[in-house]
Amino acid sequence: MSQKPASEPSKMEKLVALCKRRGFIFPSSEIYGGFNGFWDFGPAGAELKRNIREAWWNDVVRRRADVVGLDGTIITHPRVWEASGHTTAFHDPMVDCKKCKGRWRADQLPETKCPEGGSHEYTEARQFNLMFQTHAGPVIDEASLCYLRPETAQVIFAQFLNVLNSSRQKVPFGIAQIGKAFRNEINPRNYIFRSREFEQMELEFFIKPGTDAEWHRYWVEARLAWYESIGLPRDALSLHEYPKSDLAHYASACVDVMYAFPFGVQELEGIAARGNFDLSQHQKFSGKKMEYFDDETKERYVPHVVEPSAGVDRIALALLCDAFMEEEVADEKGKREVRSVMRFAPRIAPVKVAVFPLLRNKPALVAKAREVFEGLLPHFAVEWDDRGNIGKRYRYQDEQGTPWCVTVDFDTLGENGPALADTVTLRDRDTMRQERILISEIIPLLASKLR
Ligand code: ATP
Repeated sequence: MSQKPASEPSKMEKLVALCKRRGFIFPSSEIYGGFNGFWDFGPAGAELKRNIREAWWNDVVRRRADVVGLDGTIITHPRVWEASGHTTAFHDPMVDCKKCKGRWRADQLPETKCPEGGSHEYTEARQFNLMFQTHAGPVIDEASLCYLRPETAQVIFAQFLNVLNSSRQKVPFGIAQIGKAFRNEINPRNYIFRSREFEQMELEFFIKPGTDAEWHRYWVEARLAWYESIGLPRDALSLHEYPKSDLAHYASACVDVMYAFPFGVQELEGIAARGNFDLSQHQKFSGKKMEYFDDETKERYVPHVVEPSAGVDRIALALLCDAFMEEEVADEKGKREVRSVMRFAPRIAPVKVAVFPLLRNKPALVAKAREVFEGLLPHFAVEWDDRGNIGKRYRYQDEQGTPWCVTVDFDTLGENGPALADTVTLRDRDTMRQERILISEIIPLLASKLR
């Protein structure tokens, strides 16, 4: 059996290094030593996250007649969190080791020994509220206390009546929102998997009481299909169904969509049938009726809700883990080398196409390549690269996951006869094959591949 040398980095270590090297993810405030639980997304990461958000928004909101969007605030009236139960019940149990002073979630204890020797010696578990507190206005006292939202969902419930009254929607219909959420996690860990600042994509789909089971099934299937559409393979995805005994008293079903990360099978999204708990709570705390009147059946009721709730950062991490591959290839001189490549689905790739002049010291080549580059700019996320030899530029783009590279060479200029004039090479990231196509064919060809 072949054994890995102890010093060989794990898949996660290699991925973390690649993400920094290629501008996907940087530790927050790194010049000050970093800030635990916070991450910044670099140029490639910002595009990747944007593509995830756009894929979700297009599929869940724009291409459906029965879902509308919302863009609510991060800080809301503190009563929102009293009504939702977050001020009293959004707790994790926390323990400390009496010897090394380490601190963990009581349900996520470390497998390692205590650095002070032997096993950890834990304190009794104490409840720790995960909401970040702040104050609105100049006076810092109880009356100005408010919270950074720990989820985007409650902002949707709090605006249910306004959306209902201002849109043309009828039950069943949904309100969707993408935005930042904050949780003061006791142990941020597994890279960006559990952070203190992250982004959620949440849908509250309002339904007639009694139709909960069928709509819950519908959304579980729809969400699973969506993950496949952004390139996550079905065999790396699974569903975790909560037994009835583990459900909150108001919920009738909850299924988590799980992904097989290198550090274990973990949740990407939770899909819960929450009854009318949230709207009823806001009705109770605000005194405003959260009812829907069905003008066909003349029934009046507080709608029930099915809530698919996903995390942008966790999906980004799943896509990065899934796309990352190392393979042995021959370089231009036939020497074997390891190629790192991010095989993102083109729809999700940060940059769709890179344009190179074969040589950067030939003004005619550079001018022609620039013309091609500028022609593509309005259509795709395009990158210009004229540094190093072509092989190095391909390797760089492979690590960034760019599906196609276009090279402008002397044939393009017509220097080797009119037959090849105005043609370029189009190189495919996955097959590494190059084909010669006309400049005028690039946009329709890539657009059809992206569809
Ligand atoms: P976990 O059990 O992992 O703490 P959760 O069940 O509390 O997650 P939800 O409250 O259901 O999570 O949040 C919905 C989604 O928001 C999660 O599926 C996840 O994708 C994302 N999410 C929640 N907490 C975090 C976090 N600390 N960092 C990154 N994403 C998160």
